[in-house]
Amino acid sequence: MSDISDIVKDENFFKERLFYYLEDSIVEKVLNELIKEGFSSKYFMYDCEITDSVEYAVSLKEKCEFCDEVLNESENHVISESYRLNSHFLSLIREQRKENLNKFLDPTYIQNLERLKSKTRKLIPFIGAGVSVPFNLPDWGDLLLKLNKGLNPTDQEMYEYLIKEGDYFRALSVLKTYSVSYSSDVEIKRDIKQILKSEYNKNTSIEHNVNDILKLESQFFVTTDYDNILSEYRGKYRDDFVTPLVLKDLEDVQDLFSNDTQQVIHLHGNIDIPSSMIVSEEDYEKLYNDSKIESILNAIMANSSLLFIGFSFKDKYFKDLYKMIHNNIKREHFIIVANLHPIESKDLLGQNLIPINLKIGNKDEYTLAIKTILEELY
Ligand SMILES: [Zn+2]
Repeated sequence: MSDISDIVKDENFFKERLFYYLEDSIVEKVLNELIKEGFSSKYFMYDCEITDSVEYAVSLKEKCEFCDEVLNESENHVISESYRLNSHFLSLIREQRKENLNKFLDPTYIQNLERLKSKTRKLIPFIGAGVSVPFNLPDWGDLLLKLNKGLNPTDQEMYEYLIKEGDYFRALSVLKTYSVSYSSDVEIKRDIKQILKSEYNKNTSIEHNVNDILKLESQFFVTTDYDNILSEYRGKYRDDFVTPLVLKDLEDVQDLFSNDTQQVIHLHGNIDIPSSMIVSEEDYEKLYNDSKIESILNAIMANSSLLFIGFSFKDKYFKDLYKMIHNNIKREHFIIVANLHPIESKDLLGQNLIPINLKIGNKDEYTLAIKTILEELY
């Protein structure tokens, strides 16, 4: 319910406004609940056709302020239901948020959050795999374990060992060299696509941050994920699906800023275009030695601050490129992280990333903690 207050604030609103963000049936339910609890009031907006004027009434038994006809006895008024959140409800939400912020934000990082808040007008969210976790999508290690086929027992043991060590490139290379099921990247990518599609739980009941991210209303989004979760949610609530972009189809970053269509840019490829997917070390070498990704990221980082969400910042290729660009263009970029030790915080600052550190007691709080930070940015 606190989501609604971000959308409509203390203004009069029509319920259609909420259809962007919530299912139609949920909107009805939530509005009824809010009225029942005394958190919201219902008004009737009437357009008097006799005098061509607009006013609000609390009841349809009222007389029109302009022509003096009783509203529900007259045929000269176009009436629409409108709502407004009560100040009592809004202050309850503010209190709840303050409480959450105290609970989840490490107080050492309040200053950093204030700096982030001053950048919201030019903020581009950079989405990592963490955001897809509630949708049951496997992380890299789990994904590689699922690709495990066609290896003899010794190779399989090596494969699993390398995955456990986090050496994903070498694991992939073992798979490609020794598995009788795979002879090329094309087949591996085809299987990755198939695994991600079948594991994806579209109607997850687990809380996630996708709507919170969309509510940032940034001009576009950048991700290294292959999946289309962000685009799907964006399309659902805006009623116009915009095709996600892979690097080779991206011509001009300035268009992204000026078109403001909230398109999703997939730096490492997209699940629906397997050939675009950056998987093996060779793919990474090719992508990061090409000037395209550099010029794109350069243009984005020159014009906006990035906010990394669900992104581990461990990808060496990306880290190097980010560092190089940042050396030329000094702008502040931010990352939301959890349970950081001061020494790790220093590491991030050394990499020119301003951390916003969350205190998380158990894994289930992660989504709410991120939501709490994003709510500060609307
Ligand atoms: Zn009237």
